[in-house]
Amino acid sequence: MSYTNNDNFNKNINVQCPTCRKRFDVSYNEFCVSIPCGHFVHNTTECKHNSCKICGQNVNKFFTADEIKDIPELYQNYIDMISITKEKQSYSIWRKLVGVTRALRLVPTFCGFGARLFFDYARLPHWKSKWINIDYLLGINSKIIRILNIHISTENAEKLTEDNVTQRVIICNHSNFHDLFVMAKLEPLPFMASPVINKFMLGRAITRTYPHVIVENDVTSKMTEHDRKKYEQLDGKKSGYQKVVDFFKADNKLHNKLMICPEGMLSNAYCMTQFKSTAFKMGKVQPALIVYKQNVFNHQEINMLFLERVDVKIIIMDIIDTNGSIESIENIRKLMADRGGFKLSRVENRSVLTIDTITNK
Ligand SMILES: [Zn+2]
Ligand SMILES: [Zn+2]
Repeated sequence: MSYTNNDNFNKNINVQCPTCRKRFDVSYNEFCVSIPCGHFVHNTTECKHNSCKICGQNVNKFFTADEIKDIPELYQNYIDMISITKEKQSYSIWRKLVGVTRALRLVPTFCGFGARLFFDYARLPHWKSKWINIDYLLGINSKIIRILNIHISTENAEKLTEDNVTQRVIICNHSNFHDLFVMAKLEPLPFMASPVINKFMLGRAITRTYPHVIVENDVTSKMTEHDRKKYEQLDGKKSGYQKVVDFFKADNKLHNKLMICPEGMLSNAYCMTQFKSTAFKMGKVQPALIVYKQNVFNHQEINMLFLERVDVKIIIMDIIDTNGSIESIENIRKLMADRGGFKLSRVENRSVLTIDTITNK
């Protein structure tokens, strides 16, 4: 029996269950691949149907990751699948105790942070300096790295810092919040984030302190360039693309680099999902590979406290010219995967699709 689904090879693999609409990568729920089309669906009777809800093809069979991993012709489907699968974790009592101790060690830091935040918001006129500044935030960052026992090594780190003139977008793979701590330790860079960052107190303090670009789901992405401009004029709103252009226009040394995570979501630490970002249109990118020894994708949020140790290596690659086309972006992704030993997944974050470049069309 042949399972070949080459017809679908260049199609994008879904990150969301077509039946219940829940994302696979945010939960530990098992999902499976529909054969022959290759689309994903939750491995439950409610979510599985005889015909695929995305492409309409009849489904002959459903395979879980374990079932397809040894079938060579379905190996790519296996990679796609594990790239967004979180494995359920269990931590020993000892690890949990260590985690609680770590949390307690962070309490004074966050009390101090809260107090500074309060004084900062009070903004008495005779206070000239801000209570929360970049040095203070970097101090908190170092403390978090110490407490989470994150060990960082670097390769070609000078490539990031020695050239402060060439405007470029720094592109990173993304598996966990660890990435942000680690990159800030190496070089505090202006960054692109989703509006989610302003939901957290620490996030708000960072966005108030440091240059950044917030890009949300951009309704203009599916419009023609003409319609987008009209929309921008009428609504006074900027597209994600325009925000990036404006960021680089600022005549300031801090505005020469902008860090983005072009996967647009968290993925397995050994895989890279597809890239999507208007920022590639800026013409020059520099990859910063974040290579973990442990699959930190499995240990999100509170679970970060329970990991015994995190070993990570940052590899800075040369600056690459790009015209921002789909082919060019894909070539850059392949170069990065080669260099960092990542597997290439075909999964693509749909929500990032909506901030896709307008000029592509
Ligand atoms: Zn589902
Ligand atoms: Zn399908």
